[in-house]
Amino acid sequence: MQQLTALLDSLDGKPFKNYQRLAGKSFSSNQYTMRFVHIQGSPGAFPASVCHLVIGQSDLGIPNGCLSNKARRTATADYLLRAFSRAVGMHARQNRGALGSGSFQPLDLPPQVLIRNLVTFKDANVRIAYRISLPGASDNRILGKQAALMYTKETPDIIQALKQAVAQIDRLKEHCDTIEDMLDLQNRLQDHGLVGFIADNAILPRESGISEAPLKKDAVAFQTPKALAVNVVLPNAGPISGLGIRSGVTVIIGSGFHGKSTVLNALSKAIYPHIPGDGRERVATHNEAVFICSEAGRAVNGLDISCFISHLPGRMDPERFCTKNASGSTSQAAGIVEAVHAGAKLLLMDEDSSATNLLIRDRQMRKLIPEDPITPFFDRVQELHKNFGVSTLIVAGASSDYLGVADHVIAMREYRPVCMTGTANQLDLPKPVHPSIPLALADNRTLLPGNFDPSFQARRLDKTISVRIKPLRLHTKLLEYGNQQLDLTKLTALVDPHQVLTLGYALRLAGNRFNDASLSPSALADALHRLLEAEGLEILYQSENRPLFLAHPRKLELAGAINRLRNLRISVPEK
Ligand code: ADP
Ligand code: MG
Repeated sequence: MQQLTALLDSLDGKPFKNYQRLAGKSFSSNQYTMRFVHIQGSPGAFPASVCHLVIGQSDLGIPNGCLSNKARRTATADYLLRAFSRAVGMHARQNRGALGSGSFQPLDLPPQVLIRNLVTFKDANVRIAYRISLPGASDNRILGKQAALMYTKETPDIIQALKQAVAQIDRLKEHCDTIEDMLDLQNRLQDHGLVGFIADNAILPRESGISEAPLKKDAVAFQTPKALAVNVVLPNAGPISGLGIRSGVTVIIGSGFHGKSTVLNALSKAIYPHIPGDGRERVATHNEAVFICSEAGRAVNGLDISCFISHLPGRMDPERFCTKNASGSTSQAAGIVEAVHAGAKLLLMDEDSSATNLLIRDRQMRKLIPEDPITPFFDRVQELHKNFGVSTLIVAGASSDYLGVADHVIAMREYRPVCMTGTANQLDLPKPVHPSIPLALADNRTLLPGNFDPSFQARRLDKTISVRIKPLRLHTKLLEYGNQQLDLTKLTALVDPHQVLTLGYALRLAGNRFNDASLSPSALADALHRLLEAEGLEILYQSENRPLFLAHPRKLELAGAINRLRNLRISVPEK
């Protein structure tokens, strides 16, 4: 560490590029090692430099029990990242240089716990990757003394705070227990015949429409009536009770503002574990659940949507539907078909965000316009479950139609569920019209070579940048990929920009590894997913000296990104 201080002192006032002398070097104290993995090119450069902090597991004070299985390692990694970010907030002065340089760059983590590549446990050591913007002056000179302060004063304070966070063993253990419980519950949902579970006392509403923090004031805790209650046993918390969402078709009804969408949204996020205090810790949804909504304006690439839409104007062919600007109903039909291709086992839909004409057509309309080309989802929802094992949970309060195809009906009343299955069964309800063509949901498309080019032609500068993959800073679900902008806003399962970046680099890997593989989009998503699971996220950047901060996406989002590309080259078999 003294060497590091001496080096930084000697660099003071030199041009910024001299920081490169740190690259690849490690410096140790008697407690920890600091490794400079990547050094930024200029003050305020984005992304900034990357350092690894390596510290003994026992020096940090992490008990073995917090690393005893994958779930607990994921939880401990998450705990450390959050503690690190808090410690930076407490101990770093930040903005020591020009353009925001001279700052640690703490992560802004969502309440969902993701599998990331930032913390590794190996050989009794813990390695934490973090970004730091090295301090430079506006005239591009190194602020060596400020850098020395960051490494000799602030860093030890941050590490001390990290140790104190770990020393709160009860909190660390609660973090591990909570996440292990949720993942265990999620894995065992099927044993209970469930696709989702919401524990009693869960707090589902959020503070505001733009916040992921729990609503504090006047939040009504979730409470399940006997008729809907399911008991489960968690490995750490033991027996608990709550609402079980059974496989099949479940319809949520209820008046406006009684919490229907809140339940659906909570379930859509509960594909991931949540941190203690979030309120959704004991909500678990089938790992292959996907929220589907209308997404007018999106691209669709040669997809067979004829099971929902049998005829399109002009010469457009619904068996190979191609558009750069889908409508509400065609986009939602495409979303359903693509999700099932990619292996979705639970579809989550809300009338609030759906194309009504894709969801239902009432009896009178069927009489008035018998030639309507849309087969509403209503006619397919039971078929999807019976023939493809795909369950649906749908919020449909405006029309009673869906009660006619529901296996289970739940009403939300004053934010609490009420069982209405029996009552609904006594009504005279419309039954689905059996569509003339059965659902055929194999992805028959083949990707042609030459997709996924990440290069960017910067016309203004008259040059080509070989790789341009980054989420927009303020719109982190818009991914700049080569010359395209890929809009992933409607993929609610993406909760962190690092997942979006991962999707971008996964597309690049697809171009490198599977260019001639003649796979369908869903088969490609599957291949990429397996590769990431087997090789780790490092495979996306290991040939470069610049590490990326990534988080695992699901196969469904990999497919979602591929399918939304606007210039996908694809072939579809002739009729
Ligand atoms: P719906 O879809 O039935 O119209 P929402 O789910 O959008 O209703 O919820 C309406 C409002 O009630 C939202 O502001 C939401 O945050 C709030 N809310 C939902 N559930 C609860 C709850 N359990 N306790 C307190 N407020 C809630
Ligand atoms: Mg609603």
